[in-house]
Amino acid sequence: MTDLRLEGVSKRYGGDADGTAALRDVDLAVREGEFFTLVGPSGCGKTTTLRTIAGFEDPTVGTVAFDDEPVTDVPPEARDVGVVFQSYGLFPHMSVAENVGYGLQFREPPEGASVDDRVGEMLELVDLAGLEDRTPDKLSGGQQQRVALARALAPAPDLFLLDEPMSALDARLRESLRRQLKRIQSTLEITTVYVTHDQEEALALSDRLAVMNDGGIEQVATPREIYHEPATRFVAEFVGDNNVFDGTVVARDGDRTRVAVDGTELELTGVPADATRVSVCIRAAALARDAEENRLSVSVETSEFRGEHVHAYGRWNGVPIVLRLEAVPDDIVTVGFAPEDAHVLEST
Ligand code: ADP
Ligand code: MG
Repeated sequence: MTDLRLEGVSKRYGGDADGTAALRDVDLAVREGEFFTLVGPSGCGKTTTLRTIAGFEDPTVGTVAFDDEPVTDVPPEARDVGVVFQSYGLFPHMSVAENVGYGLQFREPPEGASVDDRVGEMLELVDLAGLEDRTPDKLSGGQQQRVALARALAPAPDLFLLDEPMSALDARLRESLRRQLKRIQSTLEITTVYVTHDQEEALALSDRLAVMNDGGIEQVATPREIYHEPATRFVAEFVGDNNVFDGTVVARDGDRTRVAVDGTELELTGVPADATRVSVCIRAAALARDAEENRLSVSVETSEFRGEHVHAYGRWNGVPIVLRLEAVPDDIVTVGFAPEDAHVLEST
């Protein structure tokens, strides 16, 4: 069990002056036993952060510490981390059992267990008992990734690091592996850092997550906080079907504030004190046809059938907007929202 800290970590690839800034002053504190996720669009620095934690990359500046001990100069093989990548990287000529037992040549199994017992225990954990003698080419993609999980966990590492481990699997398999991973992680209570570009996966799996953008951290919070109280416009737009409108404060009256968005006045609560320019975030699901306040007339351009509901895309006063409705709407649909359903950020 280990906690993890990154302090002031920056990374430049390829020379100080003209290199790419992959990480900019990243501070992170991952708690013991936590399932922590780094989420963000491609190229935002997730893999670089994970590789820096594992020791495959050295930070240009800043420190990495496990349990308050700096490990910045400790090589990866001495860091006691288990790593799983998108490509399973199994040894093709070895059986499942040999793959899972691989790391136990270098590190004793925990609690005095024999290698065979530890391999058996790991295969139970990932639901692959009975497949010991198979070679990887006789396994499905999901089974191969579970072998990779078992192999990384067999030496009982202090930290479990996963970089987009499910991206190569189809949607149904991803969901089932996601539930298994969550169960494994909470059974072992192992401190875990998980990388994904998929916000839904991040919200479903994590105790807390860091939303990254352009080499920096936008917000660190629980899934609920990230979803309901995004700290920045970037987070609001990245997570869920949010509509974000730029507005200007017109008048304040008690806890209510009138905000003008493209000539239309909205009535809102929770507008930050002193803010004059704001970003108004409203989830698609909060825009309802029968809501009485803040009525918006939307011209619909396209609709998508999503099973339980329909996503309609259109414009309100020329501003792009997404709605989540029960049925395909007419060309013009009027929706509204309650003042407290908007989340308002001061814009810079
Ligand atoms: P992510 O995993 O979020 O997609 P990465 O950490 O892989 O992002 O990359 C962050 C940035 O660093 C990107 O701009 C990427 O092009 C750059 N980068 C990553 N690895 C290298 C490398 N070995 N050499 C040069 N630039 C790199
Ligand atoms: Mg990556």
